[in-house]
Parts: sequence; C-alpha cells; structure tokens
Amino acid sequence: MQYPLTYKQFYEGLKQGKVLGLKCRSCGAYTAPPKMCCAECTGSNLEVVELSGRGEIKTFTVIRVPPEGFTAPYIVAMAELEEGPWLLGNLEGVDADQASLDLIGKKVKVGHKVIPPMRYSAGEGVAVTFSLA
Ligand SMILES: [Zn+2]
Repeated sequence: MQYPLTYKQFYEGLKQGKVLGLKCRSCGAYTAPPKMCCAECTGSNLEVVELSGRGEIKTFTVIRVPPEGFTAPYIVAMAELEEGPWLLGNLEGVDADQASLDLIGKKVKVGHKVIPPMRYSAGEGVAVTFSLA
C-alpha cells in the first residue's frame, strides 16, 4: 500500500505556506496530518487537498523540560482545523508563562518552523506552528 501523502510532502507543503491534507472520496472527511487511510472511516480512496490553514485551539500544554535544541518554556497546542482534523503544533507569539484557559477557543493560523538537524535527528525537520489569528 502506498502513502497518498507522505510526511515529507506534508512538510514541503508547509514550507510553501500550504497545509496539505487528505479528503476521503468515500465519506467526505478530511485527514491531517497524513495517514494511510481516512481517520473517520478507514477508507483508502483519498485525494490530496489544500486545507484552509485556519483553526481553533482545543487544548494546550506548556513544556518546561525541553528536548535537546529547544528552549523552554513553550506552548504545544492542539487545534481543530476548519475542515475537522486536529493538528498538533507549537503556539508562537504567546508568553508561555501567561498561558491560561483563555487560549481555548482562540482562532489560529497554521504556519511552520524549520528545525535544524540535531544529534539524534535524521536531518532538518519541520514543525507545525500556530499563531493567533
Ligand atoms: Zn472516509
């Protein structure tokens, strides 16, 4: 079975300012980040589509003990995209020490951040980011 949309393609899309996802031809649901099958009905009849890149924060956490190469504190949020899927990313432009439940429900725009290669990574990485809309 072949991946209809690879993570590499997803990240390349982000670098060009596009949020790519999968639309299920069977049930109409959207899947992002990419999976092998529809997150809703597990069907495999999927097409690659560009999503709006807009969403709403559903939940978040503040990271205070960061992995190598990251500077804490920072906020990791889950946002529900307009098309339905939930995406994980770093919330930027908000002071992590001021983060409160007021963030939940806030509208965000999806962006990206290039992560330079580190000792335990397989080269350059790309992370999803959110900024308040
Ligand atoms: Zn489906």
